[in-house]
Amino acid sequence: MNLHEIMELDQQYYMNTFGARTPVAFEKGQGMTLTALDGGVYTDYLGGIAVNALGYGHPALTQAVVEQARKLMHCSNLYYIEKQAELARLLVEQIGGPCGLTKVFFGNSGAEANEGALKLARAYFYKQGIQRYEVISAKNSFHGRTLATVAATGQSKYQAPYYPLTPGFINVEYNSMPAILNALTGHTAAILLEVIQGEGGVIEADPEYLAQVSALCKDKGLLLIVDEVQTGMGRTGKPLAIQHYDLKPHIVTLAKALGGGIPIGAVMAQEEVAQAFAPGDHGSTFGGNPLACAAGVAVVTEIMKPGFLDNVRTMGAALKWGLESLKARHGCILDVRGKGLLLGLELNAATDGKAIVQRMFEHRLLINCAAHNTLRFAPPLIIGEKEIQLLTDTLDKVLP
Ligand SMILES: *Cc1c(COP(=O)(O)O)cnc(C)c1O
Repeated sequence: MNLHEIMELDQQYYMNTFGARTPVAFEKGQGMTLTALDGGVYTDYLGGIAVNALGYGHPALTQAVVEQARKLMHCSNLYYIEKQAELARLLVEQIGGPCGLTKVFFGNSGAEANEGALKLARAYFYKQGIQRYEVISAKNSFHGRTLATVAATGQSKYQAPYYPLTPGFINVEYNSMPAILNALTGHTAAILLEVIQGEGGVIEADPEYLAQVSALCKDKGLLLIVDEVQTGMGRTGKPLAIQHYDLKPHIVTLAKALGGGIPIGAVMAQEEVAQAFAPGDHGSTFGGNPLACAAGVAVVTEIMKPGFLDNVRTMGAALKWGLESLKARHGCILDVRGKGLLLGLELNAATDGKAIVQRMFEHRLLINCAAHNTLRFAPPLIIGEKEIQLLTDTLDKVLP
C-alpha cells in the first residue's frame, strides 16, 4: 500500500481518535532513524513518545523478541513464567530496589499500570479496615485514558466527554503544598504525581514540594504513588527520576520504554504495600507474558550496562545546552526545561508550536508539541552528538 491508500483505509475504518495524523507511514527503523514508505529517512527525537529507548532495530532487543517468539509468545498466568520472574528480579534488583521497591506486577500499558497502583492503594487501606480511598493528583497531569486514570488526569480536555468521572479523585494545582493540604480529607488514601509532567509540557516538580509531599504522606499515613511511565527506565539519566530527588514513594508505575516497543507496564511497590494484593485481587490475561517480558529483560539489561546512563546524562546535558543557546538567539523561546533526555522548549504565544513541529517534519526531523506550547524532545536514549547537532541546527533554521 502507498500512503494515500493507507490514509483512505484509516479514514474509512479506524475510529477517528487521532484526527489528521502527520501524513507519513513508516516501514522500518534503524537506530535513530525511521524510513517512510516513499523512502524518506527521518530522524526521530520523540522515540515513539518515549517508548523506543533503544532506538529502532536494536540487535539485543530484536534478538530477544525473535527468540522468544519462536519459543513461546504467550501462556497464561495460571502457570509460572520464566521471563516474567526474571524481569521482576531485574526490575527490583536494578531499578526499583535502591528506592525501596521490592515487588512487581505487570500489565500492558501505562494506564493499566496506574490502574493497578490505584487499586493497590485502595486495597492497602481496605485490608486494614480503614475507610480511605480518595486520591489527590495534579492538574495538568497525565495518567492514562481508562476511566479511573482519566479521573486522575487533571486536564478537562481528557475528562469532558466522560462524566460522571470515577469518584474519589481530586485534581489540585501542581507544585502547590497549600493545594494538597486543602484537598486532604479523612478519606484521603494516596497522592499520585509525576515528578516531571511529560504530556503536560515537561513541567518539573519543585524538589522542595516533593520533599514536603513525601513528609506529609509519612505524617498522615498516606501512600505516595509516582507515575514514572514516561520518566522511568533511564529517561532522565537515572533508572528512575525519583532518584534525582531522593524520593521513596510507596508505589511507582512504569511502562512506555519498559518493553522498548513491546507493550508492557509495571507497578512496583514497597513490600508492606504490595502485600495488600491477595490472590484474586488483581490480574491480567496478557500482563507479564513471555514475549513482553523477554523484551523487558533486554531493555533493562541494556540500559543498566556500564556507561549507558552516562550517555543519557551527557547527551541530555549537551541537548539542554544547545536548546539554551537557541534561547539566547530566538526571542520566541520562553523556557528550556527537563532532565536527561526528557526536555521541553516552551514557545511564546505568538509562535505556533504545532507549525514548528510541521516545519521540522518538512526537514525530516520528528518532534512534537506537548501542553503549554512546549516542543518536547524524548529521543531514543542511544542518541549521539551528531543527532543533537542536527536537531539544534534545524531548530535554529526553523524558529523565528
Ligand atoms: C503515556 C503516559 C501514561 C499512559 O500510558 P499508556 O500506555 O498510553 O496507557 C500514563 N502516565 C504517564 C506519565 C504517561 O506519560
